[in-house]
Amino acid sequence: MGKLFVISGASGVGKSTVLARVMAGRKDLRFSVSATTRLPRPGEIDGKDYYFITKDKFRDMIDNDEFLEYDAHMNNFYGTPIGQLEEKLQKGNVILDIEPNGAFNVRKVREDAVLIFIAPPSLEELESRLRGRGDTSEEQIQVRQARVAWEMEQSKQYNYIVVNDKVDVCADKILKIIAEEAD
Ligand code: ADP
Ligand code: 5GP
Repeated sequence: MGKLFVISGASGVGKSTVLARVMAGRKDLRFSVSATTRLPRPGEIDGKDYYFITKDKFRDMIDNDEFLEYDAHMNNFYGTPIGQLEEKLQKGNVILDIEPNGAFNVRKVREDAVLIFIAPPSLEELESRLRGRGDTSEEQIQVRQARVAWEMEQSKQYNYIVVNDKVDVCADKILKIIAEEAD
């Protein structure tokens, strides 16, 4: 059985960007693909970035106990399907990109999970990255920003906090944590 590494951080902080570098730097690491009811952004691939599903399908999966954890936030449902996660854990270490409620629920069932919080260099930079991505509506930007203070507060309960100033530096720090913590 591999180890679980959980990455969280405010929307737009650079989780996907940094994770792509981390995954490229450690080929044995597998990414847990979440299910979500939100629509795909341009370039996102079903089954790779997320399983994009309907609310009805999501509810069916809840009823059938198919999630390790799930959470409703930002007007949508997001959850970690157990099947794909267990399959990946049999092969090695797995990384999850989920928000704090999900992270703490994962920790309840897997006490040895390593929780890593990615923080922005500043709140101004965070907003500029989220807006700069250019694929999120003004309404969704407001919804996402409303969660930032709460998310930052939760970071105190994480095992590690890493600032994403430069992508490479942040990815290297996470790779170092993984190298130290991996079984
Ligand atoms: P998240 O997955 O956390 O929502 P993204 O990875 O989509 O965030 O990054 C949001 C935007 O910020 C993207 O346009 C990305 O290219 C940019 N970005 C990510 N990390 C950095 C960084 N260290 N410096 C400057 N821009 C960054
Ligand atoms: P986004 O819509 O920007 O991809 O993700 C929004 C938020 O949902 C992010 O904080 C991301 O970490 C979180 N998230 C993604 N997948 C899951 C999941 O399976 N469970 C939980 N609890 N949060 C998730």
